[in-house]
Amino acid sequence: MKTLNDLLELFKIHQLGILNGNQSACLTPKEVDEAIGILLRECMKEDAGYLGWANSWSEEPLIINKCKEFGHKTIEYKIGNCQYLVYCENCGYIYKYDSS
Ligand SMILES: [Zn+2]
Repeated sequence: MKTLNDLLELFKIHQLGILNGNQSACLTPKEVDEAIGILLRECMKEDAGYLGWANSWSEEPLIINKCKEFGHKTIEYKIGNCQYLVYCENCGYIYKYDSS
């Protein structure tokens, strides 16, 4: 059973692999999805959870408005060439965005 810290460490190593062009350090897309799945189960809180792709929102979800208001520090990981995962430990939400 992976703990939350194990998963965050996994994303960190994956991100470093992308940044250094070291494919062998990277997770496969399937492994990324699996890790996100576990992360969601581990950190799921009421009213939070997975918000999908930010690129598909017509407006910013309320939970993110509140999060910014509270000044939470979110964690962001590069999970693909132009893809990022954003996670707030306090709120428990996760979303992805594509910067391309
Ligand atoms: Zn937050």
